[in-house]
Amino acid sequence: RNFILDQLLCQLNQKQLEAVTSTEGFIRVIAGAGSGKTRALSHRFAFLVNEIGILPGNILCVTFTNKAANEMRHRIHNLIADNDTGYINTFHGFCVSILQEDSHAVQYPKNFLVLDNQDIDSMLKIIYEERGLTLRHKTFSKARDMIEMYKLERYPNYYLDLITMSLDTLRQKYLRATDVNDIIFYGYLYQEKKCFGLDYNDLLKFSLYIFEKNKEIRLKWQKRLEYIMIDEFQDIDKIQYQLMKVLCGYHKNLFIVGDPDQTIYSWRGADINYLLNFDKAFPDVKTIMMNENYRSTPQILSVCNSLIDKNKNRMKKDLLPMCHSKNSVLYYHGDTSEEESDWIADQIIKLHKKDISYKDITILYRAHYVTRTLEETLLKKKIPYSIYSGIQFFERMEVKDALSYLRMITYKDDLSFLRIVNVPKRNIGKKRMEFLQAYVNAHHCSFYEALKECVEDPIFKGTDAKDFISLIDAFSVTYEQRTISEVLSDILDRSGYEEMLRTTGNQERLDNLAELKQAVYDYEISCGEEALLPDYLDHVALFTNSDVTDDSDKVKLMTVHAAKGLEFPHVFLCALNEGIFPSKKTSTIEGMEEERRLAFVAMSRAMKSLFLSESHGKNFDGSTRYPSRFILDIDQKFLEYVKKPEDTLIAETKNYIHYSNRYLDGYVAEQTFQVGDKIIHNVFGQGRIKSILSDRNAYMIKFEQIETPRIISFRVPIKRA
Ligand code: ATP
Ligand code: MG
Repeated sequence: RNFILDQLLCQLNQKQLEAVTSTEGFIRVIAGAGSGKTRALSHRFAFLVNEIGILPGNILCVTFTNKAANEMRHRIHNLIADNDTGYINTFHGFCVSILQEDSHAVQYPKNFLVLDNQDIDSMLKIIYEERGLTLRHKTFSKARDMIEMYKLERYPNYYLDLITMSLDTLRQKYLRATDVNDIIFYGYLYQEKKCFGLDYNDLLKFSLYIFEKNKEIRLKWQKRLEYIMIDEFQDIDKIQYQLMKVLCGYHKNLFIVGDPDQTIYSWRGADINYLLNFDKAFPDVKTIMMNENYRSTPQILSVCNSLIDKNKNRMKKDLLPMCHSKNSVLYYHGDTSEEESDWIADQIIKLHKKDISYKDITILYRAHYVTRTLEETLLKKKIPYSIYSGIQFFERMEVKDALSYLRMITYKDDLSFLRIVNVPKRNIGKKRMEFLQAYVNAHHCSFYEALKECVEDPIFKGTDAKDFISLIDAFSVTYEQRTISEVLSDILDRSGYEEMLRTTGNQERLDNLAELKQAVYDYEISCGEEALLPDYLDHVALFTNSDVTDDSDKVKLMTVHAAKGLEFPHVFLCALNEGIFPSKKTSTIEGMEEERRLAFVAMSRAMKSLFLSESHGKNFDGSTRYPSRFILDIDQKFLEYVKKPEDTLIAETKNYIHYSNRYLDGYVAEQTFQVGDKIIHNVFGQGRIKSILSDRNAYMIKFEQIETPRIISFRVPIKRA
């Protein structure tokens, strides 16, 4: 046995070893949080390469987030000591690879654009202006959701329109639409086609469609992917499932890992049954279960286990701790959110005094909006922190602008054009843009082409349009011979963009550009010689902020969804209140169980210590804010109370939860009695219905024991006497 292999295998337990060495056929690992699933998966990759001799380029490894993909790439790079780490990517990222090679099959150019939310918003802006819509008709974020819903449910075959219809036909369809949703939807399809843009849905749909239509291409990919491995399989959705089913169709080697207790994307179409019924869908499936936990202390595990045990609809499994420690899980109840934040900050300071780095501390929450007080407190107490939110870094204005310059050089697309043609100021303002827009509409060309055609027109006198054109054209012909980082620095300089920021004294924005240059540089290092600009642009388009590797010593703040699959030494889970976590949007029993799984995911990220907190106060609608049921779910002997809510508050909370559960059960408060009916009320006893107050969903009842008639809500159960 070789040395590396021994090294590799001695880091695994028996079950993991079995998973790693069972290379052929369909293998499913079902195991709890922190049991080493992801570790088994990455070691399996190394085993295939180092021991069996498979080329990394013939392995596909799918993870759930870009951050997870980066970590995996890193781990595997270390394990196999080879720069070629094959296809380690998210489903979307992998589809980009497919389309980069084979988009010609649907007559799309190789350098299609991957669209992110901001691109979509820019398109919406064009559509809104053209059709006189305002945000009062629909906010951009609602419009994006609507488009996604249309693509997934209403017109699942929309992609055929994109592929087969001419730009003209799409435009006609858009112009003929009268319903606001249709206008937005077809306007969007038209804009997409116009710049050969693809959003996340399209990436998957197009890939699948290519495989369906073109047998040779399908076979090529099937043959190439000798081994396929998928992490976080519990959150796979229908179209991802179809795609992977196709991909493993030739070699039939598919290895999946998942934990049913960690499904947290049902709301977006994830279906746990793909994991649970895997053995029925594929032949001779070998299932491996693991129940040792290497991540967390026994106390943290007990808390997690007793929480998730309250879900009725689940396979029972308990995790056994492999770590040792005496630290308890702390729970703090604050009278106000300031008090809660203060407590968190003080705990962080305490940890920091014990030589624990800030970067080993993470604060998790259900929704972004709860961070405001927390941020204020951290700032006040001078605790450095950074927020990992959706698409923050790459959504910053200057970063987007810089990338638009790169895209302009590469694609000359309208979106980039509109963003930067007048940044810095080139005197191409509204009037001249309208002129260009008219030309574009009349000639069906891009804005850049329009500008080039019209630059001699008197209307562009006194502008820097010519300089802009020569700048872009000069870079377009040379960028392929230069490194991306060189091109970036150079264009920021020669376009006058950086100078503009300098003169406005905006240091923070300049810092962000420096950070972007660093990111490009890191990318080049990771790709080696062949780092190409178009690839880089696709790469960042798939990026969300959580992927920016931030090694500086700061406390991390993020949502629970963003923390999926990751682990942190010290975890604070804050704002554990009814209406926040569980979210007030929860309206079914299934929804509540998903919230509980989400809480389980949150708590099971913690390795050494876990701090739970919430605070009293009022919700936006003025109602009282109660501690979360998830705190009450935990076996109380595993929690150490730092400051306990008063008994009366606990009693009220239980009462509140009791009633809220009746609604989850599908209970609808409605009228069941008529005027004159004799009834019995739990507290007031016998009475008679005097009238129905239907606008208030209540009865007027005269009770025998009480002199004046009382208003009683439909909500409380009363019996017929
Ligand atoms: P999750 O469900 O949260 O994704 P997971 O099952 O993927 O968790 P990993 O992230 O692979 O778990 O492992 C959790 C931690 O335990 C990691 O720090 C990992 O390095 C460690 N670990 C895994 N297996 C072993 C082992 N056999 N010996 C020691 N440590 C291990
Ligand atoms: Mg994992």
